[in-house]
Amino acid sequence: MIRLAIHGGAGTILRSAMTSELQTQYEQGLQDALEAGYKILSSGGSAMDAVEAAVMSLEDCPMFNAGCGSVFNNTGKHEMDAAIMDGNTLDAGAVSGVSNVKNPVKLALTIMQNSEHVLLTGTGAELFAKMQGLEFEDDKYFYNETRYKQWQEALKDDRVQLDHTEKKFGTVGAVALDAQGNLAAATSTGGMTNKKFGRMGDSPIIGAGTYANNNTCAISCTGHGELFIRAVVAYDISCLMEYKGLSLQEACDIVVHDKLVKIGGEGGLIAIDKYGNIKLPFNSEGMYRGYANETEKKVMIYKD
Ligand code: ASP
Repeated sequence: MIRLAIHGGAGTILRSAMTSELQTQYEQGLQDALEAGYKILSSGGSAMDAVEAAVMSLEDCPMFNAGCGSVFNNTGKHEMDAAIMDGNTLDAGAVSGVSNVKNPVKLALTIMQNSEHVLLTGTGAELFAKMQGLEFEDDKYFYNETRYKQWQEALKDDRVQLDHTEKKFGTVGAVALDAQGNLAAATSTGGMTNKKFGRMGDSPIIGAGTYANNNTCAISCTGHGELFIRAVVAYDISCLMEYKGLSLQEACDIVVHDKLVKIGGEGGLIAIDKYGNIKLPFNSEGMYRGYANETEKKVMIYKD
């Protein structure tokens, strides 16, 4: 049994502002990522390789707020966060506040594999990336006119803004179950428009925005990071399954539709459990998302 689920952020453009051309571009970006991850799983590859490939594909697509499409922070920089976790070994790697690194998820994996640490930040993480020979890109590569305008708007009234005025969170992520029964999760983001220099969201925090454990599930979150950190969303779902014996659906319902809602935590997540159940819950208008199994490959944006 193999399974893959991906997201390109919760929130999404309001239906009224979505054109068919834009929708096609978003769907294509999601399909490419599903394809990139699924072909690894279907040829016997690992869940870790599949989530890395799917997230890299989304980082390389300017439609999403990660990698080349990352939003501008308060000083006009792109500071990116990412994490990856292996549900088999509970190994994890994460990075926060890096600029000009082409694929932050690859850096997160390199930190996991080639350092004795879990999380590196800022210039130290960039130095490590250089030492490891990872690819860098100049500022032009990360420039995107839509995101620049969003930042200018947010700057006017000193607001921290999600990736779209309509509250779109564009973070990307993937979760997978491979043929060996191993789960993995990965998340990557530019964070929130006009966020304060040095702000870290939930994505690189193991247990908040990203978590995987072969005993329970693999989770990648998207939404208002501060609230997802406070609700320890990904680990909470795993704990409800591990210690209370809840199903993935029951655990997601409690965390996404009750606990998060009560504290104003808008967003969603993608999840796969060890039995291959896939859940894609969100409490926002929509969530760019998709999944693939042996019989279906599907991408979706809105609730239906
Ligand atoms: N969770 C991300 C953050 O707060 C934002 C997002 O999902 O788009 O950094």
